[in-house]
Amino acid sequence: MTEIPKNHPRYESLSLREEITRCVEAGITSRQGLIAHGRGEAIDYLIGEKSLPTALEAEDAAVALLLTAERPVISVNGNTAALAPKGIVELAELVDAKIEVNLFHRTEERIAKIKEHLESYGARGVLGLEPNEVIPGLSSERAKVSREGIFSADTVLVPLEDGDRCEALVAMGKKVIAIDINPFSRTSRMAHISIVDNVIRAIPNMIKSANELKYTRVIDLLFMIECFENKKNLKSTVEEIKRGLDEGRLEESQGYSKLSIW
Ligand code: ATP
Repeated sequence: MTEIPKNHPRYESLSLREEITRCVEAGITSRQGLIAHGRGEAIDYLIGEKSLPTALEAEDAAVALLLTAERPVISVNGNTAALAPKGIVELAELVDAKIEVNLFHRTEERIAKIKEHLESYGARGVLGLEPNEVIPGLSSERAKVSREGIFSADTVLVPLEDGDRCEALVAMGKKVIAIDINPFSRTSRMAHISIVDNVIRAIPNMIKSANELKYTRVIDLLFMIECFENKKNLKSTVEEIKRGLDEGRLEESQGYSKLSIW
């Protein structure tokens, strides 16, 4: 691994690249996952690499939905396992959700490695290795799911999802929460709650929120969910990104002044 100097202005981003590359070498993340990561990086760059107020709002509503769900499941792919393994395990415990590994580029070996990786952070009962149901209308490998997990879930949290499966889960009548930095993706457009944030910030934000909301009355959580409007939130997110670019917030977050480039 390349040693990234701590004082490098892009330290965090470069360290994440190192981590995800290490996970590709360890057989946890697919090579294609690197491309998805690159696209995510590019969009995060435009967002200013911080959680927008609209993302915080979506994260709170998502936690309320997970806390009131009867059978919540967190679906984990290779990128999520690389970037947020500890947080996924902690969040699953806080909201009492099952964890199921579900991959587009599915191999038994990679599922077993992701399971093992999550277990090294304390996960128990990780599903996905022995799928016994299929999601109707989906021809990719992502259709393979466990009956006691995603198949029977009423609410599914899908970080870094592909649009097809998101649509198929919605068609099955499930509540779908997506974490996708891309507000234009089919996933973001399809989900009931779309969190437009980097998974590395979204999961810790959701853990904080779950710690605060876990003692809230169910009626108040349901009211929070009711008040959240996904379309409106996505529209405000796009407006906020545009405003940030106009006001030079991107340049500030990257450590150079607006005047230096325009
Ligand atoms: P869709 O069908 O929804 O348009 P896609 O097939 O283009 O999705 P993938 O290539 O599977 O999607 O990538 C998943 C999504 O995850 C992309 O929209 C990408 O921007 C986003 N993404 C990548 N890295 C991150 C990250 N660290 N945090 C949040 N989102 C990310």
